[in-house]
Formats: sequence, C-alpha cells, structure tokens
Amino acid sequence: RPSDIYGDVRRNSQGYNLNVAFEREPLLENVAAFDDRQWSMKPLVAGVSTATDVVKTITSPYDTRQTVGQVHWTQPEHARDALAKADAAWFDWNKTPAVKRAACLDRLGDLLEEHTAELMALCAREAGKSLQDSIDEVREAVDFCRYYASQARETMNEATLLPGPTGESNEHYYEGRGVFLCISPWNFPLAIFTGQICAALVAGNGVLAKPAEQTSLIAGRAIELFHEAGVPTDVLHYLPGDGATIGNAIMDDERLLGVAFTGSTETAHIINRTLAARQGALPTFIAETGGQNAMIVDSTALPEQVVADVMQSAFASAGQRCSALRVLCVQDDIADRVVDLIRGALSRVEIGNPQKYETDCGPVIDEEALQGLSDYVESWRGKGRVLAEAELGTEAANGHFLAPVAIGIESIDELGREQFGPVLHVLRFKARELDNVIADINRTGYGLTLGIHSRNEATAAYIESRVRVGNCYVNRNQIGAVVGVQPFGGRGLSGTGPKAGGPNYIKRFATERVRTINT
Ligand code: GLU
Repeated sequence: RPSDIYGDVRRNSQGYNLNVAFEREPLLENVAAFDDRQWSMKPLVAGVSTATDVVKTITSPYDTRQTVGQVHWTQPEHARDALAKADAAWFDWNKTPAVKRAACLDRLGDLLEEHTAELMALCAREAGKSLQDSIDEVREAVDFCRYYASQARETMNEATLLPGPTGESNEHYYEGRGVFLCISPWNFPLAIFTGQICAALVAGNGVLAKPAEQTSLIAGRAIELFHEAGVPTDVLHYLPGDGATIGNAIMDDERLLGVAFTGSTETAHIINRTLAARQGALPTFIAETGGQNAMIVDSTALPEQVVADVMQSAFASAGQRCSALRVLCVQDDIADRVVDLIRGALSRVEIGNPQKYETDCGPVIDEEALQGLSDYVESWRGKGRVLAEAELGTEAANGHFLAPVAIGIESIDELGREQFGPVLHVLRFKARELDNVIADINRTGYGLTLGIHSRNEATAAYIESRVRVGNCYVNRNQIGAVVGVQPFGGRGLSGTGPKAGGPNYIKRFATERVRTINT
C-alpha cells in the first residue's frame, strides 16, 4: 500500500480542474464575489487585535491602482508581549494529547477548503498568483494540515516502548521545545505559512507567526481560521510587519527556542548569526532558502518534452519558486532545436491579469523585484546574450510585469546570485564536458532541485548521484513538489532540512525524551 511508505497520500486535497467548464465556472464565480473586498489585519496577540501607528496599504502586483486592504505593522512591544504570552501558554498545549492537536489541524484543513474562493482571491489580488497557482496554494496548505496531523498521530501520540532488562521500562517520546518563530515567504503565502505553523503547533510548541510583508492579509485570514479550528489564541500569535523590527525585539530572548524560516539565503545567514551569538539555551534553526537550479539535458532527450518541462519549470509562477529552473544545460547536439522550441513557446506566452483563465504568466511580486530583475536582464541584453523573450501585452502597463526571457551563458560561473523571476539561463555543453557541468553546478553551493532529461537510464543515474541536491526530477518538470509524495527541501546554501511535507519535518520541531522506570 503506498500509504505504508509515503504516509497516507490518499488524503491529499483534490483541488479543482480548471480545464473542465463545470468545475471552473462556479469556482470563478465564487472567487469573483471577492473582487471588491478589502481586508484589514492587525497584530493579534492572545486573541487581542491591536491597531498600530504604522499602517501599510496593500496593492495588487498586477495592477497597483487596485488596493486589497491594510496591514497594521507590529511594533516591538507587541512582539515581546506575544513571546511572553506564548511562553506562558505552550506548556499546557504541549501536555494536550497529540491526537487533539492533530484534530485542530484536520479541522483547519476542512476550513481552508471551505474558504477556497476567498483564499484564491487573496492569492491573486495580494500575491499576483495565477488561478492554477491559487488552487494549488490552497490545496498544498490543506495537504500540510492533514499530512502533519497524520504524522503526529503516528509518531507523537504515544511513547514507544524500548528494550530493557527485567524490572525496568524504557520509553521514547516527543514533545514541544517551547516557542517557535515562524517566518514565511510571499511566494507561497498560504501554503508555506500554514505548513510551518502546523508543524510547530502539532509538535507541541507555541508559535509567533511572522508572514512576509507583501502577503500579510492572506496570512492573517489563515490565522483566524487556525483559531476557529481550535488552536488556543494564547498559543498562536500573528505578527505582521517589518522583519528586522520584530527580529530585533525577540530574537535575543532565551524564551524563543526555535526559528523556522523560508526565504532568501542572505536572511537565513543573518538569523543564524543572531541566534548563534545568543547566550543560554541553544535554539533550533530550520531554514529553506534559495536555489540555482539546473536541468541537464543530454542528446537522447526528446526536445518537445524537454521544452514543455522547461517552460513549466522556469516560467510557471513567473519563476518565483525556489524550486524553479534557472540554468538549462543542454548538450550541443540538440541545443539548436531546443532553443528554437523555447523561442516558439515564449512567443505564445500570455502575460497579464493572473485571475484570467487565459493568462500563463502573472506579475512579479513588487516594484523592487521588478527593478532588480529588469536591470539584470538589461545587463545581458547589453552583451547581446538574450536568446528569446516573451512579449509584454498592454495588460502589463499597470503592474510589475517582466517578460519571461532566455539568456545564453557560456559558463555557470557567470551566474551571480539567484534571480527570483522568469529568467532562464541556457548553457550548451559537449558530451565530454558533462563532468565539468556537474562540478560547476555543485560549486554554486546551492542544492535544491535538479532536472535531468535523458532516455539513457545509466546517464540519468550517473548525473543524479553526482549533483548534490535535495530533489531530483527525471524526464519531467522540476517544480510543484506534492506533500507526502515529494518531500521538499535542499542542502548547502539551499537550507538546513528537514524536508517540508516529509516524514521527518515535524520531528525537527519537537524534542526527544526518554523515560526510564525501575518497576
Ligand atoms: N515546494 C515548491 C515547489 O516544489 C517550492 C517552494 C518554494 O519556492 O519555497 O515548487
């Protein structure tokens, strides 16, 4: 039974099929009901929502003339108060049987499904996500709830009896560590936000939830649903706002015993240094960061299939996935054909309002991201290296849109830091250079996803065993890891592990105990 190996994958949420009119039309009607809705979120500490002096207006990345709502940013005193309250409350939560904590997660999964239309509207309007991405976002959040709930029931509800001499009983069990700070990114504003918090809660911890500045509205809605699902308000607190302000207020405090972070490698280093400089109890740090992900394509690959998977891997979600393909390494023999097909595919990409069914590629998250990416592309254009580019339509005029682009490079060493957008680099290599390509990929220091396209199983196995990554995909696209099916996470500059949606994730949020009794 697959569930014996992978966890109960049959529980994964089904989502919706946009290609079927009778599923699509009612769904889109329900989403459209939220077209004019404005949301407002304030820091929520022990169930008390407090207005602050710093209020930010959120606008849509695809049309900055449209507002989505307002967020009151957390001030240092709210963060400190939340930590004190969580520290006082987590012990009782930790003593609650894991099945009860898991039941809250299951209820949350059901609530998220019930609120799919509103959450999809927020995904599109606040984060600029396409319809398909918005469906997937809700689906993945639901999957995290149910998967971590089932893992907790399996591993955390009862102690495991260990061997011992007659007259002695030995048991091993898990419990919470204390208070966790969960810092989540804007690119999966519901799924990763929910996943981190579910794991921390179900393992018995108190949680301070710090969403990305850009996507605090959907995060605030999720927190309301967590509480509705039965998570006590003094155990889970919501702290939207500036990362440095919140971090400086609480990161030095010994009562903060863990930080779960998903975001850039630079920020992970800053958090890691701050935690390392602390005196007293040693905190846990869990980080999922960026990638400089490659796909290696040899001459036996099928170009049409390669290009379908490249388009998906590099440009879906406007390339704003840490799993996204950044460097296509294609063997010389078929490179012309592959590049021609990419050029053709790019010329057909529809860029625009992510809430439209026809749209293939939505906006990037904000003006700063757009500026950085545009400058980057222009620097390559100046060197005559742009191989192919999509066309920005008129819809792009009022938002943060970057035309998906393919850039020719001569060596992986030419790449600097990760470009978090729809920018694909293409490198040609000769068969005898394969080992150099592998060494260059490893030398980037990142290790998140790898794609391989080859009909030669031995070549695929050779490459897979030599490239140091967390997730390797053969003859398919390299994004969209499914909870419990493709546990996700990298190594090196890409993160600390454990893998999200995998069997070891919730354990990292817990601490282990052993009870020995002389009977
Ligand atoms: N899990 C996502 C995927 O497989 C990527 C997560 C991220 O971008 O942080 O595409």
